[in-house]
Amino acid sequence: MPYQAPLKDMLFVMNELADLAAVNALPGNEDATPDTAEAVLEENAKFVANVVAPLNHASDKEPSYLADGKVTTSKGFKEAFTAYAEAGWQGVQHPVEFGGQGLPKLLATPCIEMLNAGSISFALCSLLSDGAIEALLTAGSDAQKATYLEKLVSGQWTGTMNLTEPQAGSDLAAVRTRAVPQEDGTYKIFGTKIFITYGEHDFTENIVHLVLARTPDAPAGVKGISLFIVPKFLVNADGTLGARNDAHCVSLEHKLGIKASPTAVLQFGDNGGAIGTLVGEENRGLEYMFIMMNAARFGVGMQGIGLAERAYQKAVTFAKDRVQSRDLAGSAGPVAIIHHPDVRRLLMNMRSQTEAARALAYVGAGLSDIAHNHADAEVRKSTLAVYEYLVPIIKGWSTEMSQDVTRDGVQVHGGMGFIEETGAAQHYRDAKILTIYEGTTAIQANDLVGRKTVRDGGAVAKNLIAQVRATAAELAAREGADFKAIEAQLSAASADLEAVVDFVVANVKSDIKSVFAGSVLYLKLAGLVLGGWQMARAALIAQQKLDAAEGDTAFYSAKIVTARFFADHILSQASSLRSAIVAGSSGVLALDVEQF
Ligand SMILES: Cc1cc2nc3c(=O)[nH]c(=O)nc-3n(C[C@H](O)[C@H](O)[C@H](O)COP(=O)(O)OP(=O)(O)OC[C@H]3O[C@@H](n4cnc5c(N)ncnc54)[C@H](O)[C@@H]3O)c2cc1C
Repeated sequence: MPYQAPLKDMLFVMNELADLAAVNALPGNEDATPDTAEAVLEENAKFVANVVAPLNHASDKEPSYLADGKVTTSKGFKEAFTAYAEAGWQGVQHPVEFGGQGLPKLLATPCIEMLNAGSISFALCSLLSDGAIEALLTAGSDAQKATYLEKLVSGQWTGTMNLTEPQAGSDLAAVRTRAVPQEDGTYKIFGTKIFITYGEHDFTENIVHLVLARTPDAPAGVKGISLFIVPKFLVNADGTLGARNDAHCVSLEHKLGIKASPTAVLQFGDNGGAIGTLVGEENRGLEYMFIMMNAARFGVGMQGIGLAERAYQKAVTFAKDRVQSRDLAGSAGPVAIIHHPDVRRLLMNMRSQTEAARALAYVGAGLSDIAHNHADAEVRKSTLAVYEYLVPIIKGWSTEMSQDVTRDGVQVHGGMGFIEETGAAQHYRDAKILTIYEGTTAIQANDLVGRKTVRDGGAVAKNLIAQVRATAAELAAREGADFKAIEAQLSAASADLEAVVDFVVANVKSDIKSVFAGSVLYLKLAGLVLGGWQMARAALIAQQKLDAAEGDTAFYSAKIVTARFFADHILSQASSLRSAIVAGSSGVLALDVEQF
């Protein structure tokens, strides 16, 4: 089934929930009008549907491979990347100064969703380049910006992120790669990095590796890590390519999913040392890498949403086509399985969670634009705090959601989902990595509890909960069973979330393990409530449009039904999450390690 971008929903969410008008009013965003947004999304949708999406299934069967030190990517990928770069898509959200289009994150976000719906394996390359660009924009010297940014923004070169080593995964304090200062101001890099996405490929003539390493006298732990640029080919003063650097791909991983994306083991410095230049100051590398990771974490959340949408579309097509069993209400013969209530439940699970996660992520993107571009420093600061609270939720919840949705997609297909022919199984396999890389869900939850909730005593969380309550009050004022049902679930779930925030803040000092025993559940609860809040807002706006007889009535009435389903079936899970969280650690930690 060909992928068709859900442009109607994307534009509704951008305009009505994420307030594109407010983003358009920010200094520097004058071009981001609703008309431009629509035109950009339509073009991107065409590109993805025609060029990227058709490659996805075949590339799973013919992954990238390494031979004689060279990586050949799956058939069609190189040409698609060239077309992507030439059309300017890599530069959508990057500064005009470096050749980008300078459009806001709110407009780039649906483009990222579409590209990932097309093919996660393909989209990863540009996602990593986006992160490298962000890091260099923030911490790079003028000379580094001049050398690398235009080439990265245009897609002439690509970027990678080199954190992981065999002994250093979630715990980057354990990074051992060495950086030895040279007399000319450069550094020689020695070490092994594993699991490096697009660490080697055939898309472009050069690859810009951003590498975490330690200088000789660096303090132990995360405070002694620095960030370096280590290009595959050194760059001459005039911008042309120089000597091959001592950074080589020694193997590619065989994986459960995203098989077409080359995941490389990179060896630095086996032949005398790979030449790198320091980004920013020594020992501040992790701080800079976090800039890159925050951008990338948001992007991985979007991968989950794009993938969920694709799996949903495939399941709907199959459910309309596959004929099996009579209708419960009686029918002359067997009917398409979409008529069976449980198949409908699965499809509504898929649809409602995808829409809720999309709405929350786009709202987050709009907040990021305000946090970076608003004229008032106080507004920037307070909005940044809200955006940063949302990042681990958008990453963690949307990716966990994509696993549920792609699993339901397989279930809708029955046996045809389990075999590889339909592609439903590929989506399920591809989804699994999303809860692991860029920080596992547990690492997102640690961030949510530690930096985002405890540090301000739960202030940002409580502020959001107050906004959820305000929406619940609006629902209570509306007539109709759907609004009453949504209000009841949203009010109860927001009380659950508030109780959990109180529990986290009150117990983190006296019983820290109790709090972290439920941290992933807290992340999921926050996702449910905030996603449910966006669905409730969507339902209210949809009703206003229906009352005013404006626009597409089928779309708006479906939105209300979908919001009602989300409230009844998904938001209602909040109370069980709360009970598990406040039960604390007794059940989780009481067994001795020897008892396992
Ligand atoms: C396909 C693929 C692509 C990747 N791409 C890149 C890339 O481009 N660049 C890069 O640098 N890395 C990359 N990675 C590495 C990825 O980011 C790590 O695998 C990930 O961060 C987890 O680290 P780990 O595998 O060492 O697992 P571990 O850290 O060993 O974790 C194992 C388990 O322990 C849990 N755990 C660990 N510490 C904690 C804690 N403090 N609290 C609670 N639970 C904890 C984890 O949640 C997990 O469940 C990639 C990995 C894969 C598989």
